Amino acid sequence: MIGGNAKGFGTGTSFGSGALERVTSDTHLAILSVFSTIASLAIGSFAVYRLIHGEFIVALFDSLLVAAMLGGLVYAWKTGRSALVGNLVATLLAVGTLFMIFVLGLSHLWLFSLMIALFLMASRVVSIALSLLLVAVVGNGTEVFTDPVERVTFLVVAVQVAVFSFVFAWRTSHQHRQLHVMANRDPLTGIGNRRALRREMARRAEAARMSSERAALALIDLDHFKKVNDRHGHDAGDKVLVDLAGIVSDTMRACDSFYRYGGEEFVLVMPGTPLEGIVPALEKLQGAIHERLRGPDGPLTVSIGAAGLKADEESQKWLSRADRALYVAKSDGRDRVCIDQE
Ligand code: GH3
Ligand code: MG
Ligand code: MG
Repeated sequence: MIGGNAKGFGTGTSFGSGALERVTSDTHLAILSVFSTIASLAIGSFAVYRLIHGEFIVALFDSLLVAAMLGGLVYAWKTGRSALVGNLVATLLAVGTLFMIFVLGLSHLWLFSLMIALFLMASRVVSIALSLLLVAVVGNGTEVFTDPVERVTFLVVAVQVAVFSFVFAWRTSHQHRQLHVMANRDPLTGIGNRRALRREMARRAEAARMSSERAALALIDLDHFKKVNDRHGHDAGDKVLVDLAGIVSDTMRACDSFYRYGGEEFVLVMPGTPLEGIVPALEKLQGAIHERLRGPDGPLTVSIGAAGLKADEESQKWLSRADRALYVAKSDGRDRVCIDQE
């Protein structure tokens, strides 16, 4: 299945994998980070103020809210589960705000900014459910509104804010998803592109450093591909590239990921594969290619250079060892697998 390599597009899962890249590729995490930091500073200041004025219960409540938000933020950064944390923090803030409005007399105007934050932070279902809850509870609160006109005005404005926030958040996340796909997929074959490969290799190298996880990488290059283009045109060549991507995607394991490195060169990343596991995996792949890959003039072959990831190796070095092995496979006569033994 082409595109079965979506695992290659996930987010990293530790502080070490580039904070900037994490927040640019994960909208939930970005919004959660900004919102939790600002809200913690604001609520934290109120907590200090209440403490100074002897209002211990309120100060304790504010402090718990700040601790929960910051705890959630750290958890999201560590585990990458920012969507889950976004939903939890949004629920906590909604319940906390209702408590503050009804028990501590907080102004209901805070609801408007809270609703905007909910739609940006939580999933669609959770943000709609929480907004309905907030509007229904506060709109019906006899303690909040005594004047019916004021109550109706609140309801109309609140619904407007919810609808605008929903449309804005939905469009933003939709466009973000589209951009993410465009930035990470090869448009011809639908598999991951070089940028996605770079990220996956960096992730594997980090896993090898942190927890000695094994991984192998295979650089796959079509043999005499130029002839297909020269004799039958680029469209025929393109079809071969798409067919090859399909064959490899069908053959690889669910945990493997497959990328177009450029031109007629592809990279298969195989997590959890030790050096001795590379040959059987690639023999199976070569078998499928022999059986299924056809050009306009008949069967086509590939040469493969592979390398196992070393414990403390830079990802670029890993790829260049596979490239060296590919060079040997080509010079030894093509249609073969060569593994870097270093
Ligand atoms: P070798 O066996 O040594 O790998 O020979 P080769 O002909 O496969 O390699 P070479 O590097 O000489 O040619 C690669 C060709 O791939 C040249 C280029 O026109 C073609 N190519 C690169 N990208 C695309 C593409 O997106 N579509 C098509 N149809 N051809 C492409
Ligand atoms: Mg080639
Ligand atoms: Mg090539």
